[in-house]
Amino acid sequence: MSEARARLDALPATYPRLFPKGPVPWGFAVSDGWGHLIETLCARLDTILQDAPGASIEVIQVKEKFGALRFYYSVHHADDSTEQALRQAVDLAARASAHICERCGRPSELTSNDGWYSTVCPACRSATSR
Ligand SMILES: [Zn+2]
Repeated sequence: MSEARARLDALPATYPRLFPKGPVPWGFAVSDGWGHLIETLCARLDTILQDAPGASIEVIQVKEKFGALRFYYSVHHADDSTEQALRQAVDLAARASAHICERCGRPSELTSNDGWYSTVCPACRSATSR
């Protein structure tokens, strides 16, 4: 297991308020390059919740779709400003993911190839097709 993957798998234990039921059923269905992005997002969400004692969220699914990060979660007992802050953090990470290679984490761009979207840098792309 890569170090990035081990860190991702440790997130539910690190942030029990984001993962009240423990690990997400399908794990983190993204490649390791987005590990840091997802860690940063979880830290941010946890910070937002610290300012909203009654609120809770549950991360349901984390995956790649159309070359970008999809982070699905449900929110409970949050006021409007908390909910908005959470949504902004998730949106920001989703937008950032379109500029980070999903494989290696280096700067990259979202590209489409025959309708197949991915954010993978040229080096990683050629490594795959070899
Ligand atoms: Zn790459």
